[in-house]
Amino acid sequence: MKLLLIDDDQLDRMAAIRVLRQSAQPITVVEAATAEEGIQQLEDHHFDAILLDYRLPDTDGLDVLRLLRINRGTSIIMLSGCEDEELAARCIEAGAQDFLLKQELNSRHLLRSIAHARQRHGLEMELRKSHEKLRELAQQDQLTGLHNRYYFEKQLRETISRAYLCSEELALLLLDLDNFKVVNDTLGHDAGDQLLRIVSSRLASVVREGDLLCRLGGDEFAILAHHIDEDEDINHLAHRLMEVLSDPIELRGSEIHVTTSIGVASLSVCSEGTEGLMKCADIAMYRAKDTGRNQIHHYTSMLHRDIQQRVQVERDLRKAVEEQQFVIHYQPQVTVSGMIVSVEALVRWQHPQRGLLYPGDFIGIAEDSGLIEPIGRWVLQNACQQLASWKHRLTASGQQLSLAVNLSSVQLRKDNLLPAVNEALATSGLAPENLELELTENMLIEEPEKAAVVLEQLAGRGVTISVDDFGTGYSSLSHLRVFPISTLKIDRSFVQEIEHREQDARFFKAVTSLAKTMELTVVAEGVETTSQAKLCLQAGCDRLQGYLFSKPVPPARLEMLLFSEEEADSMFELAPLPC
Ligand code: C2E
Ligand code: CA
Ligand code: CA
Repeated sequence: MKLLLIDDDQLDRMAAIRVLRQSAQPITVVEAATAEEGIQQLEDHHFDAILLDYRLPDTDGLDVLRLLRINRGTSIIMLSGCEDEELAARCIEAGAQDFLLKQELNSRHLLRSIAHARQRHGLEMELRKSHEKLRELAQQDQLTGLHNRYYFEKQLRETISRAYLCSEELALLLLDLDNFKVVNDTLGHDAGDQLLRIVSSRLASVVREGDLLCRLGGDEFAILAHHIDEDEDINHLAHRLMEVLSDPIELRGSEIHVTTSIGVASLSVCSEGTEGLMKCADIAMYRAKDTGRNQIHHYTSMLHRDIQQRVQVERDLRKAVEEQQFVIHYQPQVTVSGMIVSVEALVRWQHPQRGLLYPGDFIGIAEDSGLIEPIGRWVLQNACQQLASWKHRLTASGQQLSLAVNLSSVQLRKDNLLPAVNEALATSGLAPENLELELTENMLIEEPEKAAVVLEQLAGRGVTISVDDFGTGYSSLSHLRVFPISTLKIDRSFVQEIEHREQDARFFKAVTSLAKTMELTVVAEGVETTSQAKLCLQAGCDRLQGYLFSKPVPPARLEMLLFSEEEADSMFELAPLPC
């Protein structure tokens, strides 16, 4: 056994050594007369126990005790010349394993105390180790071995406080895999786990020393990067992260191509503390996802303004739904003879401060927030009501008029579309044959099975289904066969180029003639000039819609177009048609 005896009194040291020599087991005692000497010895050698005099010339006994405790490998027994219960308790609290009176030292007593102290110290060490292990487990992600969200947030808080003090720049990168759900769904969760492990180790291979990488959960990772001198550094790191993930990953015999969206936020731009920085990086990451995924997006104050504006619009929109601040404008569709046979209902928002707003300003936000559902229901209900109110006049003048209403994918996904349509028809009294619902091809792709069921139900009810903006999406002819579609609206972009681009003219002709053979009604959208109108009709189009005939107009104006002969004549003049 090797002991370190720290005592400034040589006589006391000799007395202790004498006591120890009486032991049967071999004991080596190294002596130190000051705390400094003792600490030096402890740095250079290993000891089984330390005997420490409480009263040393250079320092207070408790301070020495605390210093020695930093070197945790050794048990400590305090020696004191005077009996003091309170002091003894304080020493034990400060980490000593025992407290002995010098004048009571005898061999048996001292050796037993050393044995107990060593045992107690051993137990303490084990406890500390398991405590540390527990802490490690609590801070570690079990699947990948990376740090977890708990640890990350703790570190982020500390690092940000330090960075503020030292005016240091920090950047937070949030990574979200783009196609992880597909892997999980198609290859199973084990394959998903394996993918996450591979991704983790690839990311770890790129992260610079001193930077912190962690898995926040699911397929989301975070990197806290220090020592950034310029934006260049952070761009370089973000590109390296994308690059290292770009090599295909072999999983269950399949080659998986992983892409990721990265949001970057730096402390100097979003100086709002931990939560602020996380939020900014999150916003940037979602913007990267929104704008096509597989890219890096930086948080900027412009993006901040943009988001705030969106939040404001969403708030206003909620109120608008409650207060019904919407109006519907109607745009006519005319036949070859210039007769209005259909009108498309187009919603506008009568904003109390900003005036009349067009769908481009709010439909996207309405869709993201789910508000499109009540708005769509309102449009459906009110447009049906409007058309039904003209029923007698239409019958009197012998006109047939149908109503086209735009649907959003959100409405198609919800289960209450059919009840909403039924209600609008029932309360207005409009015949189902006079209602046409417009949807885009993308909406058919999203959930084709569900779309098929809903559309069959609507068609079964007698309502007409029409595909809007045809030619801009998949332009799939099989959609026209699989779904109960009866009208095709060829997108404005083809009509507008029909005079100038041979390609567009050919596309227009081919689609029209094919649609006609499938007995679909073809509508040309966005007709602005007479020559466009002529070319569309020559191609075989049934109906035309566009500014050439009328812009979308309020109901009162539409009423004039429908029922005033003068107005109707002017529409004929606008459309000198070729047949
Ligand atoms: P859309 O269904 O393709 O509607 C046609 C859009 O083209 C309308 O824009 C119309 O004003 C515009 N337009 C019509 N003729 C011409 C033309 O000759 N030249 C040009 N340059 N534009 C023309 P608007 O009213 O701004 O509506 C934009 C889009 O908003 C609509 O596109 C539709 O997708 C959506 N939308 C409108 N109302 C509703 C609604 O009640 N519900 C839903 N879900 N979407 C709606
Ligand atoms: Ca439309
Ligand atoms: Ca359209």
